[in-house]
Amino acid sequence: MARERTWTLIGRDGKPYPSPVPGSLGGHRAGRLYGRLDCRAALQAIARGGYVKHRVFFRDEATAIVAGYRPCAVCMPAEYARWKSSR
Ligand SMILES: [Zn+2]
Repeated sequence: MARERTWTLIGRDGKPYPSPVPGSLGGHRAGRLYGRLDCRAALQAIARGGYVKHRVFFRDEATAIVAGYRPCAVCMPAEYARWKSSR
């Protein structure tokens, strides 16, 4: 029997939901930030441990922003600069 794969993503309301497609961005729930899935800072933090339980995923950037997350300064410097100057 084929089992359909689902991914848990964070929606616009900041709550997790099951998605039929994987997220395009990763994030840190406690830090309220989002970044690329291959983010150097995130991967280092994951390797050290302690990050994984806060790891969240978003379908796209617009969803992450509406959910109240900010861009990662390491892997998304342009977005981060824009976010910072808009505050
Ligand atoms: Zn990053």
